Amino acid sequence: MPFNDLLGNKRISNILVSYLKNKIFPYSIIFSGPVSASINTFAQAFAKALNCTGQANDFCDHCENCEGINRGIFPDVMSLSPEGKFYKKEQIIFLIGENFKRPLRGDKKIYILNDAHKMNENSANAFLKVLEEPALSSIFVLLTHNLNGLLPTIKSRCQILKFTPPFQAEINTFLIKNGYPEDKARLISHLSLGANDPFLAKNLNQYLQKRSDALSVMVKLITKREVEDVLLDLYGRSRNRDRFLHYFNQLIHLISLFLRDIMILKINRESECIINIDLKDILMNLGEYITIDRVLFLIYRMELLFRDVQRNLNTRVLILEFIRYYTQKEVDGV
Ligand SMILES: [Zn+2]
Repeated sequence: MPFNDLLGNKRISNILVSYLKNKIFPYSIIFSGPVSASINTFAQAFAKALNCTGQANDFCDHCENCEGINRGIFPDVMSLSPEGKFYKKEQIIFLIGENFKRPLRGDKKIYILNDAHKMNENSANAFLKVLEEPALSSIFVLLTHNLNGLLPTIKSRCQILKFTPPFQAEINTFLIKNGYPEDKARLISHLSLGANDPFLAKNLNQYLQKRSDALSVMVKLITKREVEDVLLDLYGRSRNRDRFLHYFNQLIHLISLFLRDIMILKINRESECIINIDLKDILMNLGEYITIDRVLFLIYRMELLFRDVQRNLNTRVLILEFIRYYTQKEVDGV
């Protein structure tokens, strides 16, 4: 599985390959990007390409070294995660000791630090010492979803590679390459964007079920039929607060995506930019019940509800607000 087969971020794959070709490596690199960019997969790929015996400046994924790295037992690749909330100072001191040891199998030792922003003052200062004394045979790869959480003094000593979530077209090509029929790949690649999960294909049925439930709630609210049922269902669920908040968050998210699609379809019925591409006709019909101002109002309100869920508001208040947004009389055109 060479770099070419990884999902998205081709520009970064090219940068990594150019390091390998020129045999000039930064001592420390930050891979920064959202969860959906799979930065860990790229870090593993880079480690494999550094040690692969089957491919030059790339990786084969099945030679002894690649397999060792996949299984986490290759001696020159070490992956670390914070022990507890933050990296412990002892973990970093251990790295200082490791840093000057010679690689056992290849030319380089590579240290992958997951959640690198999770360093407190002590561990970050200890890590600065590692960066101040580069060892020729070591490469540090710092993975983070929160670049701002890293100290500026650490960032300034690292090469920073910023990953983006994969594009719909990239997910589509990736799925077709992996054996999905074209129509299914198209649907999943659209849905993946909404779910913020490029690997949605693995949990597709589960996702479709949740989406269908959310659609039925939204239809009831927008057409103002069976609103009581929605209210009772939500009250029933709110007896278990944690489970309810999880469900409610997901519900608002899915409904926000429907609203977004309805808005786009109201502007352009032929748009290919909608997420729920398989529900185009249903969403277009629903759009007949609601003005564009009202859609915008509801999208805005869903954003506020997200915030209120984070602020831990009372579940009854959340439910009533939610229902009210859809059922209140339109005032001043909204
Ligand atoms: Zn290999």
